[in-house]
Amino acid sequence: RAKERGKARAEVFDTTMRRRAVERLELESGLRDALTRGQLRVVYQPEVSLESGRIVAVEALLRWDHPQHGPVSPGRFIPIAEQSGLIVPIGAWVLREACRQAARWNAQNGGDGVVVAVNLSPRQLGATDLAATVRGALEGASLPPDRLCLEITESAVMADPDAAIESLHMLKRLGVKLAIDDFGVGYSSLSHLRELLPVDVLKIDRSFIDGLVLRGEDRAIVTAIVELARSLGVDAVAEGVETPEQAAVLRTMRCHVAQGFHFARPQSPGDVAQLLDVHQLGELLG
Ligand code: C2E
Ligand code: MG
Ligand code: MG
Ligand code: MG
Repeated sequence: RAKERGKARAEVFDTTMRRRAVERLELESGLRDALTRGQLRVVYQPEVSLESGRIVAVEALLRWDHPQHGPVSPGRFIPIAEQSGLIVPIGAWVLREACRQAARWNAQNGGDGVVVAVNLSPRQLGATDLAATVRGALEGASLPPDRLCLEITESAVMADPDAAIESLHMLKRLGVKLAIDDFGVGYSSLSHLRELLPVDVLKIDRSFIDGLVLRGEDRAIVTAIVELARSLGVDAVAEGVETPEQAAVLRTMRCHVAQGFHFARPQSPGDVAQLLDVHQLGELLG
């Protein structure tokens, strides 16, 4: 009996595995044509200075509108794009789009202009033509290099620290800004952190912001990261800020910048243009 039950369970497991594998292959082949079929778009989420309430940057976030499945979340398709290598051409397109968009906003608004942040995955970081791709995107849009920030997750860096640090230095020479994304969950040792110093921004992982108000441990960790950033002379950005209470705690810590649904959701370029416009007139996000 037990043996039979085991067998039945193994079959259920098998079916689930097979269904997942099929779904994955289907998504992969769909993703292959998504770009040329116009199914990909980029939305942008503001990052707000906790001091002035002004939008200092916007993060480019990829969206896929699948003709059958509807919206597929990046959490599902980015890993497939990464493993298949499709992230390289798709990521290059995101870079070009984001640079063009930032140049357009900045031409409308004057001043120093907003910084656009673009996520780079490990495959992209390891690609030999990365520098040429980034330079091409900047030049094609006539965007000054310091208006582009490239985000690399802490775990991507730690997967191959020597290679990653070399790529980061190479990117830095182009004049772009660099951010370590999802900081605090990727096991950076302090000795690696020292070598990461070409970075300009530490983005504190959302998981620590979740417990900021109720959990003393999370508050202690966020305080430590903000202090670390300050003494290293880099900006700390809190991700995933959803409530006014969280924003208030971050302000008392003198965290520089925050990003999250409390301030603004990821949105279309046109909606961001309006937000930036309103900000010019002095109405601030709090
Ligand atoms: P990430 O770079 O850490 O981006 C932040 C994620 O947090 C985004 O999820 C954003 O929508 C979400 N978020 C922002 N504020 C809040 C909040 O207050 N609460 C909650 N619950 N979530 C918030 P999204 O857009 O689903 O992207 C997920 C991840 O996919 C990104 O994490 C990034 O690692 C990756 N990704 C997105 N676009 C790209 C891309 O163009 N290239 C690459 N390589 N990766 C991308
Ligand atoms: Mg990011
Ligand atoms: Mg992040
Ligand atoms: Mg994150």
